[in-house]
Amino acid sequence: MDKIGILKNSLSGFSLDQKLQIKELGRPIPDLKIEKQSGSGQKSRCRKFNKNVYDKNSCICGCEETNKLFCFVCVLFGGDETWSKKGTDDLIHIWDKMKTHEKSKVHMNNVFSFSILGKLNIRTQLNSAYRNDLIKHNNQVDKNRYVLNKIINCIRFCGAFELALRGHDEKENSENRGIFKELVNFSAELDNELKVHIQSAKLFEGTSKTTQNELLECMLDVYHEEVKKEIANSPFVAVIADETTDVACEFQLVIIFRYLCKGQPVERFWRFYVPDGHDAKSIAACVLNVVNPLLDQNPNKLIAQSHDGASVMSDKNRLKTELQVLYQREELSTTSGAVPLSILLNEEGLNCTFQETLKLLSILITIPMSTSEAERSFSMLKRIKTFLRNTMKEERLSALGMLSAEKHFVSGIEYFNNKVIENFATKKERRMDLIYRKL
Ligand SMILES: [Zn+2]
Repeated sequence: MDKIGILKNSLSGFSLDQKLQIKELGRPIPDLKIEKQSGSGQKSRCRKFNKNVYDKNSCICGCEETNKLFCFVCVLFGGDETWSKKGTDDLIHIWDKMKTHEKSKVHMNNVFSFSILGKLNIRTQLNSAYRNDLIKHNNQVDKNRYVLNKIINCIRFCGAFELALRGHDEKENSENRGIFKELVNFSAELDNELKVHIQSAKLFEGTSKTTQNELLECMLDVYHEEVKKEIANSPFVAVIADETTDVACEFQLVIIFRYLCKGQPVERFWRFYVPDGHDAKSIAACVLNVVNPLLDQNPNKLIAQSHDGASVMSDKNRLKTELQVLYQREELSTTSGAVPLSILLNEEGLNCTFQETLKLLSILITIPMSTSEAERSFSMLKRIKTFLRNTMKEERLSALGMLSAEKHFVSGIEYFNNKVIENFATKKERRMDLIYRKL
């Protein structure tokens, strides 16, 4: 059977079944009657076609009708004219020609197409397998993030109300497994998805001490990022640092920032530290370690309690004129206090005209008037320490302190839990899938 004749116009005109039949039959390897004279005179030799040509190359096929050699895959799928349509009977150069042909892109493509002909479309197969896998993975990530979100809420709840997270004995049959574990179990009673997870999770239950500590650390990170953003937008920042000893007689340094947020002074707890020593030098070094990286872009922002504001005043004569105008305005006679005046100047679009006054006001507002905020943190520290084990590391203590002292601020942070999960997922490799894959 001479298929080459039929196939001259390439496979595209055939149905899949016909194509498969052709593939099944394989390349035609007829004995051709080619005789070629090479050289001239006495050196002339006669080259005859030998069927073992077919053994030397798996693509070469023959056509009895035209008495020529072709490339089977290129006949089927189209390509180089010589090998797909015209054929060749050049027995002398056939191997050189075939070598060149085999290196061509179109031939390689045809070999590939031929090999996958009739098999499931690899691309679709890969795609659908990949897609299914991806969808499955992302669904699992959805579930895991949902569960983690609930666990974060439980930790936040315990933190906000200064409840001990750890119980004396967290084993399954324990009478008192601690408020956190009991809270998670209670939530699971109300939430089937969480219940299923708690009952079936082998790799990651989400309630271990390590996970708790890591989540607390992530929460503190996310919180700090938000505070940093606010500090970046404030013209001045003051640091309040104070020291205390906790119930375990351990020396603790608390750092609080005071700055302007939307014109109003705010004080935010930063964290607890244990300085190297109790002397002024060690404490100063500790404070500077915290403050420097925060203000390295703009060190002039930092003001101290002893700050008189003079060093940031760029134009004292201007300030004098500004103040003279403001003092004479009757409209301002009822305004009392630096905060309302600075808000008024900003709101009325007078911030450029009274720029020096505003600078001075901002400094006045930012300078801490008392250390009551710091004192509040110490009583909070005492409460947390009493409630919780006094062997607590400062990271854990700081995170819990933050959750308690800044619960309103934290609940105002957009996507707080999501940010914590993102931080938790990327900090180190997790046994629980938490990162979405993209197509
Ligand atoms: Zn070919």
